Amino acid sequence: MELWYTENQNSHLRLSCRVNQTLHVEKTPFQHLAVLDAAGFGRMLVLDGIVQTTVWDEYIYHEMIAHVPLNTHPDPKRILIIGGGDGGTAREVVRHPRVEGAVMVEIDERVVAAARKYLPELSSHLDDPKLELRFADGIKHVAECDAEYDVIIIDSTDPVGPAVGLFSREFYEMVSKALKEDGLFVAQSESPLFNRDLIARIYRDVAGIFAVARTYLACVPSYPGGMWSFTMGSKRYDPLTVKPESIPALAYRYYNAEIHRAAFALPQFLRKLLGQG
Ligand code: SAM
Repeated sequence: MELWYTENQNSHLRLSCRVNQTLHVEKTPFQHLAVLDAAGFGRMLVLDGIVQTTVWDEYIYHEMIAHVPLNTHPDPKRILIIGGGDGGTAREVVRHPRVEGAVMVEIDERVVAAARKYLPELSSHLDDPKLELRFADGIKHVAECDAEYDVIIIDSTDPVGPAVGLFSREFYEMVSKALKEDGLFVAQSESPLFNRDLIARIYRDVAGIFAVARTYLACVPSYPGGMWSFTMGSKRYDPLTVKPESIPALAYRYYNAEIHRAAFALPQFLRKLLGQG
């Protein structure tokens, strides 16, 4: 018998892949959590019926959400990660040579427990001495911070359940307050193909608060449409002026100095959507 996982994208589109085995299913206090062994993708974390990450292509998303902002800041010493329970973003952040300390605030302890058990490739650095792990609502944490961080990375679920507030203008204003005077942040901002209104709204809100607002893209095959967006808000530094020689030579699998620049080249439909011509 064949077993298939299906993600409902919208009323007319479902995306399916064959599953070798269901490894874990649980209803946490915050969401429905599953870990599957998916044919072709390997182990896959699913929250509320939405693929979060797979061991086959996770490096693309995690390198791009971490190294683009970290290398835009000339001295990214103190970092905050909101969400990111699978550990992939934390893994990338702690291996950056200029990072001295990072705090990761994840609302759902059970996601981290599942990642530790089933996704060691991603969760391997959650006990790194540079990282402090806290289980709390990221919105509350950010609201209590004042000029503390150089870089904030919002590695959240889609805007449903506890993540809804992470996509609001009020939250981006709190993020600005939590950043130092030359700080910057990045948030995963969903599919530019399927979430057009959302991405336009996020960009507008960020551009209304930060001196520099930029959207960039990466190709993540396990996300609907493949094309995925990230939105950056920066008080001073522009990711487009980063000098290639300032980028640390780490063992990247997707990111490099050319990708850093090229990721900001946007297709015409998206430029128009963001009011850039
Ligand atoms: N790479 C993923 C994606 O784009 O689908 C996101 C992965 S990570 C698993 C997302 C995490 O955000 C989840 O573990 C979820 O529990 C966490 N999260 C959602 N809302 C949150 C909040 N308000 N504060 C902290 N963490 C939150």
